[in-house]
Amino acid sequence: MSALVTAELEQEAIAWRRHLHAHPELSFEEVETSLYVEETLRSFDGLELDRPVATAVVATLRGARPGRVLALRADIDALPIEEESGLEFASTRPGVMHACGHDGHTAMLLGAAKALCARRDELSGEVRFVFQHAEEKPPGGACQLVEAGVMDGVELVVGAHLAAMKDVGKIGCPVGPMAAAADTFSAEIHGRGGHAAAPHRALDPVVVAAQAITNAQHLVSRTVDPIKSAVVSITRIHAGTADNIIPEAVQLGGTVRTFDPEVRAEMREGLERVLRGVTEAHGASYTFAYEEGYAAVINDETAAETVLAAARSELGDDAIMDVEPIMGGEDFSAYLEKAPGAFFWVGAGREDGVPHHHPRFTIDEAAFRSGIAVFIRTALDYLA
Ligand SMILES: [Zn+2]
Ligand SMILES: [Zn+2]
Repeated sequence: MSALVTAELEQEAIAWRRHLHAHPELSFEEVETSLYVEETLRSFDGLELDRPVATAVVATLRGARPGRVLALRADIDALPIEEESGLEFASTRPGVMHACGHDGHTAMLLGAAKALCARRDELSGEVRFVFQHAEEKPPGGACQLVEAGVMDGVELVVGAHLAAMKDVGKIGCPVGPMAAAADTFSAEIHGRGGHAAAPHRALDPVVVAAQAITNAQHLVSRTVDPIKSAVVSITRIHAGTADNIIPEAVQLGGTVRTFDPEVRAEMREGLERVLRGVTEAHGASYTFAYEEGYAAVINDETAAETVLAAARSELGDDAIMDVEPIMGGEDFSAYLEKAPGAFFWVGAGREDGVPHHHPRFTIDEAAFRSGIAVFIRTALDYLA
């Protein structure tokens, strides 16, 4: 186990996490959370603190000598979920819960900041600790911080996510695709309402919608290169008011997940093509709105190797786990548009654990040691 993380530092990180867990705040509303982070950082030695937006905190640690610039990022927001974990430090706020582990991310980065402040003499260059608001809600906090100049001059950016369904303390950092581009769409299919007993006098948008939904399934199975991947999920469908009325219109919505920008564009075009073709075939009409969400997180090869080397040297070869990319989205991608970087997993549970975003979601705090150690070692090596 890493000597970089003392038992005392580990206990502090756990205490910070529990405070944050009990006081969660929703995306773009992290007023108390960011104040708590700021005050905690202020208690360390030698950080310059900045508030690029009211709900985020950036701390800069300048090493003893000039050198490269490394950004380390944690997200700080919670989710609109009523907690059912039964933990003694469960959320004190109705309907709001840290159900993705961002409380743990914040605690781990605070721990790394504290340890690195004490090792300032060993650093050539600068570490920027980015405590980012609003990861869970597009457009996300990352793009706002990038806009505010947080990435200016940064040469490597590294972030971590706890993984409740991976073994505690294991580190996974794939080269290449890590998290998918996550887009959303809405559509409305317009027919002509009427009496359910006289469909010939109406234009039933329900059967047209059924065709469009079925045809959309062909996009992934028949148009995407099988070596690449994509998901199209139609998750909303609304129509009708009574059993004897053919409605005027059907509303649909869903999400598209991809890694490859070309596949992303193909899915967008393909969805509209299906809607256009199917509605035209039946004399109906449509409207379509496509919203691009977070871009895909693609880990830079050298950056991922830097993180993995740090993990190996602090935690040993056995602590490295193989991980597949996920189809979930992460706004860490906004930083990667500005500098190469890597986003890594820290196992914090078990395979049969409760998934993220669940009311009974929990993480094993024993994972923090590993996450903190990887952050510290990455900084010490990169800024050696
Ligand atoms: Zn989440
Ligand atoms: Zn998350």
